[in-house]
This record gives sequence, structure tokens and C-alpha cells, in this order.
Amino acid sequence: MAAATSGLVRRQGAEGARDPVDKLVPREDKAERPRAGRETEAPGQVQRAGPEPEAAKGARREEAGVVSLPTPVLPSRGLRTLAMPRYRVTAASLPTPVLPSRSLRTLATPRYRVTAASGVDADAHSGIPATGLGPWTGNDNVPPSANPPGGLKPEQVPMFVAMGSDDNPQIDGVNWVVGLFNGLKNPPGSDQAATYDGTTTKATFYHASIYSSAASSWKAAYQAGFETGDHTVAHADGSNFSEAKWLSEMQGCIDFLTTSAVGVKRADLWGFRTPFLRYNENTFFAARSLDFWYDCSIEEGQQPDQDGTNFLWPYTLDNGSPANAIDPRRPHIQNWPKGLWEMPAYQVITPPDEEAQKYGIPPGLRAKLLRIHADRVGVREGKITGLDYNLWYDFLLTAPEFLATLKYSLDQRRKGNRAPVLFGMHSAIYTNQAEPLSVSLNDRQKAIADFLKYALTYPEVRIVTSKAVLDWIRNPVALK
Ligand SMILES: [Zn+2]
Repeated sequence: MAAATSGLVRRQGAEGARDPVDKLVPREDKAERPRAGRETEAPGQVQRAGPEPEAAKGARREEAGVVSLPTPVLPSRGLRTLAMPRYRVTAASLPTPVLPSRSLRTLATPRYRVTAASGVDADAHSGIPATGLGPWTGNDNVPPSANPPGGLKPEQVPMFVAMGSDDNPQIDGVNWVVGLFNGLKNPPGSDQAATYDGTTTKATFYHASIYSSAASSWKAAYQAGFETGDHTVAHADGSNFSEAKWLSEMQGCIDFLTTSAVGVKRADLWGFRTPFLRYNENTFFAARSLDFWYDCSIEEGQQPDQDGTNFLWPYTLDNGSPANAIDPRRPHIQNWPKGLWEMPAYQVITPPDEEAQKYGIPPGLRAKLLRIHADRVGVREGKITGLDYNLWYDFLLTAPEFLATLKYSLDQRRKGNRAPVLFGMHSAIYTNQAEPLSVSLNDRQKAIADFLKYALTYPEVRIVTSKAVLDWIRNPVALK
């Protein structure tokens, strides 16, 4: 669609031109930033150190030529008891220049009510038989379960570590991630392909196509076997987006990623993540109708009775999302699409005081979290949203605390059901253009590298893409 693509290029040019100025905003501005939008993730602010006035945002949308749709007013998101308002998008209100005709059809996707979203029996057997689910059909229905797929015992299960990297505005950040992972190999196992034995480690990039100036590095990463995912065009908080707006944000990113600038095959785009982990009911219907295999925007593991040894394995959203049902910061969603996998943004868990020494830090880290954000769900159990931004910038972890937290989170899985470690990074944080932080660039990079090396000391660990984890879950094969 030539018209849409050229509009996109103009918008990206305007966005890129602002960056050098934004980086000069003094550090003191950090304290002034509004809480909204950085509660879980604020990758836009990796580059943009100050709040953007609403007026300026409006002006930018005008300049970018983005069609503004009337957005319904939502009730306060903190109130679980309020039902999500249902609002249908009529064909007349669609920004047709951006949407393919296919999406028009999918707006008719039926929505049905999930009645047992919060009543999940985590002990129920995995919905995946020992014979697996076979080739992809888009019709998987796998309820949340703490049990490994296929009836496997935890000791038969590869201990997956899948690292995502969001936004990716800087070429050197992407190149650093690619170089780091390409320099490491998974344990040799028995040379079994189905469990990725001895393969070079890989990661997944979720690009926001507004950062197209880094496209050459995205292309190189894709060609080197890293997974490419969709993180919208404009990286906006979509809490109030209509389904049409989500579709245009997702499809616009797809359109750019599949141009020759990046060269990703459409069939190789499997995953989507929302900016700031903000979503609403429409997000998942839009992702499903664009044939994504999985979303990775919903946090999991905040439940007080989950300590990292018994996190839920990834599941399809047919039966709802247990953590969504208890998260007061998110809309309590009643209707979910069929067949869309959730590869959750799992919480990380900081070591308790009695284990601090083992992980090389002094006692008191969990008390530190409470001093900083006592109001967060899960913080009393030492949990933090599983994105590096939240560890570095939100809870101000030192490099040893960051490393200890990732190690402890992995070790809890190893002691328990081996649910995969799915952790979100931002490649821009590992460049000298990151938002100022007291931890040096070298120490930030070293914390990530040291975690990967630590993980690879365990023979059962496999560091792979999110899609590779999903492939294994759908058709599980025991380690040999
Ligand atoms: Zn992001």
C-alpha cells in the first residue's frame, strides 16, 4: 500500500529529528515526569527524558497525518468492578488508508464472554497432550496451568530463557544484543534439534516502527536468526484505543517491517507486545485478527501464592488471563479472542534476605522495593514487572541487585516447574544514549551478559526466541 507507506516514512523522519534535542533534557526532569506511562515501562523515555505536553502530542499527530478516531471515555482503570464498556467500531470510522481490506472483515470477529477468568485451576493438567498440538492452525485452546506441557516432569523440560528487546531506536543497541547472543551457545545436551541443544543463543526484537532510522540493524538481526516482533508504529499508550486504532498501529508496523528496509517475511511475524504493557480488550482481538500467534503484554505471577517455582506456563487466552483478573492497574477484561497465545511478561523476583548473601548482595533489597513503591501488586513478595526498565529506572536497582534478581528468578524456576523465563529488555538502555542512570553503561551491559553466562552453566538451560519457546510448548519433547 504505497500511500500508507510513504506517510509512514514522513512520520518517522519527523520523529527522528526530535531525538537529539530531547536527549539534552537535564536529568533533574526525571523527578518531574508524570507517573502515567512509566509505571511498567517507559521506553519512549529512554530517549525522551521529559514529559511531552498534551498539546505537543496533538500537534505531532496532526503533522504525522494519523487519523484521529473518537475515543470512548473509559472508567478509571483501577476499579476492577467496572465492566469494560463495549464499543463497536463502524466501518465508516476506520482509517481506511492504513488498514488492509482483511481487517475490515475481522472487525466482525465475535466476542464471547469468558466466565471463569479468575477461577483457573492451576493444578489442572496442561491442555497439551503428550502427542503435542501438531502444526499451527490458529485454533489452540490451552487453559492456564502450572504443569509443564505434554505431561512431562519438570526435570524433562528444557529451562527456557527468552529475552525480548523492545523499541530498538539505536543501531548500536541492537548490534550489541546481536553480538552478545551470537557469541554464546546453548548447552550441548544430546544434540537433539527439538530441544535446541547446542544452538547459538538468540533473542526477540519487538520494534516500534517509528524508530525506522535503526532499520538496517533490525534487518541484520533478522537475517542472523533473531525473531522480529511488532511493537506498534508510534509507541503510544493504547489503553483507550479502539480496535481500529490497534489494527492500524499493528498493521502499520507490519507494513514497515515487511518493506525491503527490514525485509521480514510476513509469515515470520508471530508476536506482538503493547507499548508500556498497556492494553485493553480491543488489543487482543486486533492481534488475533492479524494472525499473530502470541501476545506478550500481560503480566503474570503477581499472585501471592506464586513464588517463581509455580508460575503458570504460557496459555491461550480462550479461558481468560488469571493475572489480568487480579491486576488493579489493568482493565478487567471479560471477552477474549480464541486461539491467541499469551507469552506473559512474568514478574521477576528479588532474593529474600536469607538468600541475599548467596546472590552477592547485602540483605534489604525487598525492603528497598517497599520504600520506593509500596503500592505495587506483588511488591510485598519481592516482585517487579519483568522488564529491565522497571529494574533499572523504576526500582533503581544496582548492577549487583539486577543480576541477583535475574539469577534468583531463574533458580526459582529451576527448583519448581520450569515455566519459561520471559524477560523484556530495551536495547537502547545498553547504549551511551540511554536516559541517565547511576549504573554505568559498562555495568548495565555486564549485568545482562553475566546473567546469560550464569544461566548457561546449567545443562538444562536453553536461551532461545519466544517463538522457539512456543514451538516447543505446542509440541513438547523431553530433554535427553
Ligand atoms: Zn516499548
